Amino acid sequence: MTRNRPTADLSTLAGLKATRHSIRAHCLNPHCGSRLLDLDALICQFGPDHVVINDKRISSALVCQNARCPRYGKRGGTITIHPHTWTPPGAVKPLNPP
Ligand SMILES: [Zn+2]
Repeated sequence: MTRNRPTADLSTLAGLKATRHSIRAHCLNPHCGSRLLDLDALICQFGPDHVVINDKRISSALVCQNARCPRYGKRGGTITIHPHTWTPPGAVKPLNPP
């Protein structure tokens, strides 16, 4: 039995958007944390066919935006790719808020 599910190229920005993946930016300071990147903005800046596997262009363009970080305002970082089932920390509200 074969599956006729449409496939997307998960190595490109357009493929990640089509499959509702997300990209998070990580500062080079391991204690800084991460932030969700705007996939549409990345597509505008780098193009829909930009390959994110072993990416250097997005990573080198990242700027730390955490004012508490010693690397604040400095360029460079890493990115991670997350499936659409992943929920950013803090996004889930408690069922019974205080
Ligand atoms: Zn930082």
